[in-house]
Amino acid sequence: MSVFSEAEKIQIFADLVKIKSVNDHEIEVAQYLQRLFADHGIKATLMPLSATRSNLVAEIGTNGPVLGISGHMDVVTPGDLEQWDTDPFVLTEKAGKLYGRGATDMKSGLAAMAIAMIEIKAAKTLTHGRIRLMATVAEEIGETGSQQFHTAGTMKDVDALLIGEPSGYNIAFAHKGSIDVRIKSTGKAAHSSMPEQGYNALDPLIELLNQANHDFRESDRHNALLGDLVFNATILQGGNQVNSIPAQAKTEMNIRSIPEYDNVAAIETLQKLVDEQNAKGAKLDMSVFMSQNPVQSPKDTKLSNLAAKIGESFAGQPIPKVAIPAVTDASNLLKGKPSDFPFIMFGPGNDTPHQVNESIDKQMYLDFINLYEELFVDYLK
Ligand SMILES: [Zn+2]
Repeated sequence: MSVFSEAEKIQIFADLVKIKSVNDHEIEVAQYLQRLFADHGIKATLMPLSATRSNLVAEIGTNGPVLGISGHMDVVTPGDLEQWDTDPFVLTEKAGKLYGRGATDMKSGLAAMAIAMIEIKAAKTLTHGRIRLMATVAEEIGETGSQQFHTAGTMKDVDALLIGEPSGYNIAFAHKGSIDVRIKSTGKAAHSSMPEQGYNALDPLIELLNQANHDFRESDRHNALLGDLVFNATILQGGNQVNSIPAQAKTEMNIRSIPEYDNVAAIETLQKLVDEQNAKGAKLDMSVFMSQNPVQSPKDTKLSNLAAKIGESFAGQPIPKVAIPAVTDASNLLKGKPSDFPFIMFGPGNDTPHQVNESIDKQMYLDFINLYEELFVDYLK
C-alpha cells in the first residue's frame, strides 16, 4: 500500500535537504520527522544532546525481535557555493538525478527509511517483530549521537542493524576503526649553543614516531578482508626559533584499526612508547580524542542474504558484499554486541558524498523505499 505519491516521496526528501543541518541543527530534522511520523500515527521521541542537536527514535510493531535501522541527520558543509551548479539546499532534478547536499549522504536514505516505516504501518504487513529507527546527530564529526544511543541502551534489545548510508547496490558488512591521538611534549628552552641547559621537546617525539612507524607497520596482525592496521603521524609541531631549543612540541596521529589489532591494543602500543620516553626523562602526555571501533559482521547472515536477494530484484544484477574504508555509526551502535551480530550498511547513493554537485539517481531513491519495505517485513517474518 502506498501512502505517498512519487511527488510526495520526493517532497519529503526535499524538505530534509532544505534543513541546513551542517554539522549542527539536526534538531530541525528530528522535529520534522517527528511531525511526519505523528501525522501517520507513529510515536517518535527526541533525545536532545544540546539546544540545537537531538537524536530521534521511532518504532513500529509491538512485540518480537527488533530490527534496528539507522541514519544520520547531519551533512557536511557544502563548501564553495560558486562550484555548485544549483543551490545545495534546494533539491533539484536534472536528467533523472536529484542534486543537493545530502542527496547521497544521506538524506535520501533517511527519507527512504522513514517513508518505508510509515507505509509498512499503514499496510499492516508487519505481523511479527519491531522496526526501530535511530536517527543520529554528529555522524560526520564526533559520532556523539550514536554514542548517546549506546549509552542510553537504545541498542540493547536490537537483534540486527541496518545503516542506510550510501552503499548503492552493494552491501557493506565490515569497516576499519579510526583513532585520533595527540601527544604533547614539554621540554625546557635554552640557547641552541648550550642544549645541556635545556631539554629538546621535539627529540622524544621524533624517536617515538620512528618507533611507532616501525612497530605498527612491521606488525604481522592482518585481516583478510580489511587488510592491515594503518598508522600515520599527520601533525608534528614544535619550536619557534631556529637557534632555540624548543620547550614545547606536539604530534597528532591517526590510526585505522582492524579487529585483529583493535583500538585498545593500538592505544596500548603507543602508551608503551610514551612510557619508554618518559622513563628516559621526557615529559610526554598522551590523549586519545577520538576512538571508533572496527566493525566486522559475518558476510552471510539472514539479513545480508535477504538484502542481497531483494536488492538484486531491484538492481537487476547480483549485489556484492564488501568491506568499506569509511567509519560509520556502527562503531558505537555495535559496542558490546557479539562478533556474529548481523549488521549491514545498505542505502541509496553513489560516489558523490561530500562533493560539490552531490546527487542521487531519482529512481534509486524511489526503489530503495520499496526495497526497504520488502526487506524489513520479510526479515522479521
Ligand atoms: Zn554518511
